[in-house]
Amino acid sequence: MSDKIFPMPDKAIIDFAAKVGTPFHIYDESRIRNTVENIQKAFAWNDGFINYFAVKALPNVNIVRLLGSLGFGADCSSLPELIIAEQAGIPGERIMFTSNDTPDEEFRKAYELGAILNLDDITHIEAVERAIGTFPEVISFRFNPGPERTGNAIIGNPVEAKYGVTRNQLFDCYRIAKAKGAKRFMLHTMVASNELDASYIVETARMLFTLVNEIRENTGITIERVDLGGGVGIPYRPEDDPISFDYLGNEIHKLYDELIGYPLKVSFEMGRAVTGPSGYLVSRVRHVTHKYKDYVGLDATMADLMRPAMYGAYHHITVPGKDNLPHDHKYDVTGSLCENNDKFAVDRMLPELERGDLVIIHDTGAHGHSMGFNYNGKLRHAEYLLRTDGSIARIRRAETVEDYLRTQLDKPEIIS
Ligand SMILES: *Cc1c(COP(=O)(O)O)cnc(C)c1O
Repeated sequence: MSDKIFPMPDKAIIDFAAKVGTPFHIYDESRIRNTVENIQKAFAWNDGFINYFAVKALPNVNIVRLLGSLGFGADCSSLPELIIAEQAGIPGERIMFTSNDTPDEEFRKAYELGAILNLDDITHIEAVERAIGTFPEVISFRFNPGPERTGNAIIGNPVEAKYGVTRNQLFDCYRIAKAKGAKRFMLHTMVASNELDASYIVETARMLFTLVNEIRENTGITIERVDLGGGVGIPYRPEDDPISFDYLGNEIHKLYDELIGYPLKVSFEMGRAVTGPSGYLVSRVRHVTHKYKDYVGLDATMADLMRPAMYGAYHHITVPGKDNLPHDHKYDVTGSLCENNDKFAVDRMLPELERGDLVIIHDTGAHGHSMGFNYNGKLRHAEYLLRTDGSIARIRRAETVEDYLRTQLDKPEIIS
């Protein structure tokens, strides 16, 4: 079970929303801090443990700075994400650069920042050398276990995945990197997404710990750090149980003691599990309509949160001021896009809603605002941070029509 409680009293969020306008995302700093603490406590046994926060989950410099101040690093996969990590003051080696199909300038920027380059393919050994004019001293490879592991629902089967190097390529990757001058070596994998079964993640640790030993036997190379990637799930449904970081830490610790005989550092790239449950999309009911079904039209759309439309994902919905009323009305909760999959919920039992009601969509702190887009001329909305002292800070302003039109050339430029 997981509680779906918004961190402000009903009246406070109703007043705040009236003041700033809807829709918006709001993130709960206390809860983020608490999560970070729990993760760090669970892995305190490992000297050098770090979670590189997957910036793509919530690419706001204020959040990345907060996480950096608490000891997390940043996992980046594009130039803008690298710049966010830089602006957030994350120091070089606390940046993991895990990209695929990587442009040269991104290798260069990551190298300039002193980030760890995590290569997605054996051909990237030459690509990186070509891009930066030398070979980095610190190098990581992303391992794709292929048929050795069955993937989970969102990320799919590793054999079908475009990412990573195969088992046959992996030992050669390390040998070649060493011959080119690499001195420190890391090993990465990412095989899960939104996984709520802790044992799957523990098995991933077993796979990497075993592989570390095989790499040592086959190549004489000692891996300094393993990175278990992201994919730790969160309980989107009230009846789901959250993953216990303590349990995860303990189980991985046991395997470590059993399989690893030297000070190997452990890391993750959790994004969702860090900020997901701490974010909320706050929106207002615009119209309640009765067709063949009953619809609640919000002022937010799937351009603000596309997980339900993209994956059929469940997001819990509460209604401040009405949550104690019987949930005896069945609605499709929609946005205003000209796409019929623009729905936050289908056949959801809610209290009777009317125009002007505020609704809160839960667990949007990861892959929420960040997956937004501008289709139908929808503007990206603001982000707020509910701080530990109860004050609320704006950490991203809403996009304006002017922002939206800025890249459009009213007067065409003749190029050729
Ligand atoms: C998306 C991604 C993550 C973060 O995944 P979460 O499910 O948010 O924990 C970490 N590493 C890589 C390489 C990713 O692509």
